[in-house]
Amino acid sequence: MTEQDVRKTLDLHFSLMESIKAHYRMRDKQPDALDKAILYCNQQIELAPTAAVAFEIDYKKEGALPSHTGYEQLAIIREKHGGFAEAIALCEEAKRQGWGEGCTKGRFDWDKRINRCSKKLAKSAPPLPVTPAIIHVTCSSCGQGLNISGKYAGQRGKCNHCGGLVEVPG
Ligand SMILES: [Zn+2]
Repeated sequence: MTEQDVRKTLDLHFSLMESIKAHYRMRDKQPDALDKAILYCNQQIELAPTAAVAFEIDYKKEGALPSHTGYEQLAIIREKHGGFAEAIALCEEAKRQGWGEGCTKGRFDWDKRINRCSKKLAKSAPPLPVTPAIIHVTCSSCGQGLNISGKYAGQRGKCNHCGGLVEVPG
């Protein structure tokens, strides 16, 4: 990743963070603000694996990644609306990637939300199948690990490294 790519990625990451916060704040005043906040969360989540690499290059001394607004805010929204399984999947994915939780409460604690949502889930109706926000696929042609948006689950596409056919599970 070049210096320029690092800058571009981090700029996009932070501008999405601001968009998420601004729209979520307006959710009771503007009819489409919550939908937009969700859209920006998904965009920031889609960027997350690349942003993680950029952060590692740019903030070498830190050791750990900062909090991730998109994962956290979307998990909060899903939990609020009863999407406990989806909230858990988001937290687990963020945790696996090494992001912290804490943009709203100053904490780095995905496990707390996972535990709470698991308890709520156990009490609620059987969950619908959940598609993860990011699907990890290994290209069978070149062996490259790919991070593909969950919206392509069950579809075919081209590997962005070798152009080979990639089937996305789902
Ligand atoms: Zn490939």
